[in-house]
Amino acid sequence: MARRCDRCRVEYETGVDYGGKDYCMTCYVRVKQEEEIKIRKEREAQEKREMLKEKYIREQLEKEMREREAARKSTILGEQEAAYRRQLERYQHEQHRKEEEEKRRQEIMHERMLQEMQLFQQRAQQKRQEEEEEEKKKHDWDVKTSVVYGEEKKEGALKKPRRQFAEEVPFQLKKTSMPGVPLNLPEREEVEVRYSSDFEELPAEILLDVRKSLPVSLSCGQKKNSVILVGKNNSPNALTVDLRCQIYDSKQKEVPFKAEPEHCAIAGGSAADFTIRFDLPDEIPTGVLTLTAQLKENAVYVGREAAKSKEVVITTKIKTPLSLEYKKGSACFAEEEGKLLLQLEFSNRGESGGTLNENSSVSYGKAGSLEKALLGQKAKIKGRQRKVILKFPAQKKCEIEVLSFEFFGVDSNGKPYRMVKNVKERQAPGEI
Ligand SMILES: [Zn+2]
Repeated sequence: MARRCDRCRVEYETGVDYGGKDYCMTCYVRVKQEEEIKIRKEREAQEKREMLKEKYIREQLEKEMREREAARKSTILGEQEAAYRRQLERYQHEQHRKEEEEKRRQEIMHERMLQEMQLFQQRAQQKRQEEEEEEKKKHDWDVKTSVVYGEEKKEGALKKPRRQFAEEVPFQLKKTSMPGVPLNLPEREEVEVRYSSDFEELPAEILLDVRKSLPVSLSCGQKKNSVILVGKNNSPNALTVDLRCQIYDSKQKEVPFKAEPEHCAIAGGSAADFTIRFDLPDEIPTGVLTLTAQLKENAVYVGREAAKSKEVVITTKIKTPLSLEYKKGSACFAEEEGKLLLQLEFSNRGESGGTLNENSSVSYGKAGSLEKALLGQKAKIKGRQRKVILKFPAQKKCEIEVLSFEFFGVDSNGKPYRMVKNVKERQAPGEI
């Protein structure tokens, strides 16, 4: 029996009953194919959906992980930052503390320095006083042996205790160095002191200062000249130092001197006195005399130089001393206000002026019977003065064959002056 295909409406002999429907073979194959395609598509769609779902989940997971990681990182950074901040605070606090400490330390140092300086000044003053006392004692003999004359004699000044007299005029006493030198010398002006500027930039561990300089001029042959220097150790440690000193005359020849002390140790923040003494030879050339002095640490260091002070430079002028020369034949008698005077003429060949003392005298007359005349008052003489007239109050007139001078005084540089000389004014009649 013939059957009709439900799909293509065609009658067929052989067909298939599939799913409750009749299909010819051709349609059956097609239906089967269509079903397979459909199933495959559905499966594919299903797979695709699952794939998408999986992808989504993966993405979500990754995102979450990233977020967690980021959060973790940010906390670490925060902790690090906090730690760093804490460290910085600690450091700043420490710095501040150190600064405060340094400030306090410097304040203490400053105070200590001030105290030391005061102590040093006290000590220096004490030492100066002691020195002055010493000097006074040293020169006592000057006063004891000095001749007192004129007004003082009349008033009985000799009866005065010597010591008392010495204390009244301590400064004048310092200047006298031989009997008969006037006590009331003017205070001699001291020269200015220079310092070399070589080491100005260096911190001065050692300072050299001048306590007593030289007068503005000195005379050839002047003795007992002295300079007092003060060496100060500014460092906290004791230093051993050498005093380096040179004295040159105007021809660059060295003048010998004695330095006391030549070397010594100075405690930290302390000071020491150095005295330089020298005599000038009689034949020293005139002109500028230069004294240089420097303190140097007596130590050898690896890597740095030993400390040294600035150089002290003192200059003074050397002059020829007062030197009177009698003009032969100038002796004559004169009368002034009823007084008889013996008048003599001299010339000063020295560059320095000076003063003759009242007790300077001249003896005149014939050999064997001389009359003595005292000058009686001070006589001032200028440097290189050509005409120096000296008037001696005389007891009586007589023929002058011989003159015998005995002059005392001091030149303007403080060098004592003494002239003892006999001059034959006129030949005795027997000697012709
Ligand atoms: Zn069919």
